[in-house]
Formats: sequence, structure tokens, C-alpha cells
Amino acid sequence: MPSLSEETDGAVTMLEPGSTIGIVGGGQLGRMMALSARYHGFKVGVLDPTPNCPTAQVADFQITAEYDSKEAIRELAERSNVITYEFENVDADALDEVRDIVAVPQGTDLLRVTQDRVNEKRFINQHGTATAPWKEINGVEDLVAAIDDIGYPAVLKTRSGGYDGHGQRVLHNADDLAEIREQVNTEGFMPPSILEGFVDFAFEASILISGNGHDFVTFPIVRNEHRNNILHLTLAPATLSHEVERDAKALALRLAQGFELSGTLAIELFITKDDQVIVNELAPRPHNSGHYTIEACSIDQFDAHIRGIAGWPLPQPKLLSPAVMVNVLGQHVLPTRALIADHPEWCLHDYGKAEIKHNRKMGHITVLTSDLATTVNDIEATGCWSDLS
Ligand code: AMP
Repeated sequence: MPSLSEETDGAVTMLEPGSTIGIVGGGQLGRMMALSARYHGFKVGVLDPTPNCPTAQVADFQITAEYDSKEAIRELAERSNVITYEFENVDADALDEVRDIVAVPQGTDLLRVTQDRVNEKRFINQHGTATAPWKEINGVEDLVAAIDDIGYPAVLKTRSGGYDGHGQRVLHNADDLAEIREQVNTEGFMPPSILEGFVDFAFEASILISGNGHDFVTFPIVRNEHRNNILHLTLAPATLSHEVERDAKALALRLAQGFELSGTLAIELFITKDDQVIVNELAPRPHNSGHYTIEACSIDQFDAHIRGIAGWPLPQPKLLSPAVMVNVLGQHVLPTRALIADHPEWCLHDYGKAEIKHNRKMGHITVLTSDLATTVNDIEATGCWSDLS
């Protein structure tokens, strides 16, 4: 089986075309990684419990099993030269157990940090970067003390497993605290959590950085608009002061160096009215807010991920055109399909998911433009996205 080429000192350098990349997780991110891996000449295997999942449709083989099945992870390892993951809730111990038979270029420290909000905040702060003020919460008494410190409003989030606003709530006043106390009394337990100060941000943004273990490249900073905690629009580039841009790039580099990053890392940011850059959270993988890079950049976030984990050199991404990316959730599938014929400018991506569900990410559309505001207005005027409930 073709594999990693080796320098004379035995150090692993570059994964050769023809090698196999195993992906843990078979959703849309895995699918777009796999498409990139394919045209670089790699073979792709995927581990996912859903038969014919989005990634399997474009991969060479699927292992149909739960993500945390140790036997399945071992089988994927045995059939691959390199393993990567498309989401952070992967069993890090199970991956560690196969590192003697397969390369895991992203490592598992990155997983252990990003799958736990307390570890993540600690890591970010230790690398000289601001977050919202935060406290670890292991029970109601911790919560009362943390509120005393941080004040209202504050955001209570579970330490692990939350996404798109699941597992979090905003506490506005003592009534909200009393409600949580009552709920904990009834349920008899409180999940390990974190309390964060509420950031009164001007807007949300993100920056992607990719690495091959020692060299790192950043993508343009983009502006993100959420509805119901789910990403709705990404505008590339974000209009920013020189200082914000400099700060965001510098913090991305510090974090990437801290992780000795291989592959793509997404950093979600809050930009305040007085131009402070605060990190909200990290994703150790390509990210929804980076989908615009497929059409709008000289190298996209998936190519950078694949090249990075393969130990290939990374070119500096250039923005070729401003762009707007809009997510197609379940309720937007039929309205957008009905308008494809009228919108040749829509670069439409469909993830091949079998079942259309409300608020489920089914695809996205990217529009290259010279006028972001007009394009956003045109998108909203179609009426396709009127249901963002
Ligand atoms: P998260 O799951 O942490 O990305 O949170 C989902 C969304 O909730 C974010 O995109 C923000 O819009 C909002 N949010 C999360 N944490 C905070 C915070 N500390 N202050 C203000 N808004 C927040």
C-alpha cells in the first residue's frame, strides 16, 4: 500500500497520492474533505453509523458502525494510512490506541481541548488570548458564586456535547437562577458546565487557520450571522479595522502554534463595538463559515485540511472575490430547488442527506459578488429563507 514517504532520518514527511485517508464522521464536512482528498489522488474510507451517509457517497469504503466503537476505529486504522475527523466528539482514547498502526496528524490533544469548554477556555487564555470571563460549574452552589462574580446576563453551557446553541441558556436575573435550581432539584443532577459572561458583541466573525505541523496559513476573516444559534449567512470578507484584523490573525497563529496544528482549525470570534477580539470557541476541523472558500479562495479550507494532514506545503490562501454563503436548512430545500433555474449565480451544494428535517443542514449556496449588501438583500428577497424558526 502506498504510504508516507520518509526522509533519510526516518521522519515522516509527505503522504503520497494513492494512500488512504480514513475519516471519522460521515456528514457534510467529511464529504467535502473526501471530495478534496479524491482529486489529490487519495483514497477515502469513512466511519459512520448511517449507511450511505453523505461522505460514503463519495468515498471508497464505509465502515458502518458507531463513532466510538473501538473495533470499528481499529478497522479504519488498519485500512488507512492517516486518520482525520470531521467533528470534535470523537473518542480520543480510542484514537490514541491505534496511533501505533496509523498516523493521526491532528493528534488527540486538539480533541481533548476542543471537546470540553473548560479545557478550551483555559487553553485559549494560556495562549494570551481573551475569552468572555468564565467559571467552571459543578453544581448549583458553584453557579451562585459564579453569578456573584460575573453578574447578569450570563450564559450557562454544558462543558461538552453542545452545538448550535444546544445545551446552553442565557440567565438574565435571579428568577432564571431559581428556575435552574428547581430543575436541578427535580432531576437530582447538573451536568458539568461553564458559566460565561454575556459578550455584548457588535458582530460575530471567524477565522480559519491551516497547518502542516510547522507552517501555518490564515484565511480571510469573515462575518457570520446566526438565526436561532444556527449559522445563516457568512459574508466574506468581514469589514474590519486594521487592528482587529491584525489581532485576529495573531491570535490564530498563537493557537495554531500551541496545537502544532495539522489540518484546519476554525476560530469563532466576537468583535466588540470598541474593536476587542474575543474568542468564543474553536472547531478542530473545517467549519461551516469556511464553505465560501470553495469558490471564493485560491485554496479552500478542505484542500488546506487535506494537504495539512498529508504533510504537504500550504500556499497562502487569497480571496479571489467577495462572497456570501447562505445555509440551506431542511425547510429551505424545496423553495431553493424551485428557484435553481432562475439563479445561475448560485453555487449550490447539496449534501446528499436522505431525510429532509427542519433546521437540519442540507446544503449551502455561495454567491460571488462585488456588492455584499445587495447580494444579501437579493438572497433574502427570494423568500426562500423566510422560515428561520
Ligand atoms: P456556541 O455554541 O458557544 O457557539 O454559541 C452559539 C451562539 O450563542 C453564538 O454564536 C453566539 O451568538 C451566542 N453566544 C454564545 N456564547 C455567548 C456569550 N458568552 N455571549 C454572547 N453570546 C453568546
